[in-house]
Amino acid sequence: MQFKRISSIIRYLSWADPFYKWKISRGECPLCGKSYFISLKNNPFLTRCLTCKANITNLALIPVIKAHVNNDYSKHVYELSSYGSTLDFLKRHFKNLVFSEYFPGKKFGETVNGILNEDVQHLTFNNNSFDMVTSNQVFEHVPDDRKGYAECYRVLRKGGAYIFAVPLYDIEKTVQIASVINDEVVFSGEPEYHDSRLGGAKSAPVFYRHSLNDICDRVKLAGFINVTLKEIMLVPSQGTPQMVVYAVKE
Ligand SMILES: [Zn+2]
Repeated sequence: MQFKRISSIIRYLSWADPFYKWKISRGECPLCGKSYFISLKNNPFLTRCLTCKANITNLALIPVIKAHVNNDYSKHVYELSSYGSTLDFLKRHFKNLVFSEYFPGKKFGETVNGILNEDVQHLTFNNNSFDMVTSNQVFEHVPDDRKGYAECYRVLRKGGAYIFAVPLYDIEKTVQIASVINDEVVFSGEPEYHDSRLGGAKSAPVFYRHSLNDICDRVKLAGFINVTLKEIMLVPSQGTPQMVVYAVKE
């Protein structure tokens, strides 16, 4: 596990600018308040809060969550990961919180190593169970992302929101680059994997390259009417905004 973590860090640093170009700037971290951020490059993923160590890609959902709940922390929330900045924030504020991981091959709706196991394409929750569903860097790994959005819609109550981020590319349309055929992941081109904290370096196959230009329409197919992209800038040195999808069930 330690080796996997170290190799992830080495790969992370390989994307950075040379160290003399790194920048430190003051900013407001949505998780820990006034803080300093380090930018290893003009990029949200390579810009981190020096207090909580989270990068801006991971912190970006929090401002959108705060705006949506508007200080009503009695809401029922479901987060699709068992770690990360979003969950850290949710755990501090929401009493009615459910979170899960995806453990393929294990029974869904039950716990595995103490963590609830869910497949977002077939959630085990009843209709209208939550006021908010959140995920970050999950949906590029879901074999049928539209089925997943539809499940998030189903388990949300009216007025509830699905708030999430995925890698978004400035391409015309979302492209599916892998499918599951006979229980095996088959890539249509160059295989692509992401690191995951539970599985380790390059353990999570990427099924989609999502387009900045059609992601909202793709989510609307699930039934959401009001879907917008929020541009999150925490410090200027992050260079470009981190996009967060905000989909409300009306
Ligand atoms: Zn922080």
